[in-house]
Amino acid sequence: MRTLVLNAGYEPISIVSDRRALVLVLGGKASVLEADETRPLRSMCEDFARPQVILLNRYVRIPMTRQAPVSRKGVLRRDSHRCAYCDAFANTIDHVQPRSRGGRDSWENLVACCLRCNNVKGDRTPEEMGWTLRRRPLPPLPHRWIMRGSERTDAEEWAPYLVPVAA
Ligand SMILES: [Zn+2]
Repeated sequence: MRTLVLNAGYEPISIVSDRRALVLVLGGKASVLEADETRPLRSMCEDFARPQVILLNRYVRIPMTRQAPVSRKGVLRRDSHRCAYCDAFANTIDHVQPRSRGGRDSWENLVACCLRCNNVKGDRTPEEMGWTLRRRPLPPLPHRWIMRGSERTDAEEWAPYLVPVAA
């Protein structure tokens, strides 16, 4: 089983095994916020409630340089597969500022786009189309990426700690 780790400021920063979480708690590095008494972790001489959510006692700085490299998959995930222009299901990505006109492959210039909008827009800018972006494309927050692979939250107990942070 896995444990959600919150930074001292309550931001989710990672997911570790419950054994590792227990080591952090026993070592005085973290406190237990939620625990499951019904399925204890057994050690040689003692049973421990299985930690589900722990809070680090000291703030850990997450280096901002850890920005995820931009990728097609990453852009679709960030935009939840919603077209930046019409909100339909999106399976392609669009350069807001077309590549042929100097638009870069960056988090700020790439958006999820449905096939239809992508074909219609072609090499034009949203301004030329009279279109507006439904949201400003931004790089994902670093801690969101550390959390990747966990779209499915393992435990209901995690939910209150995973309220999305405004991008
Ligand atoms: Zn569209």
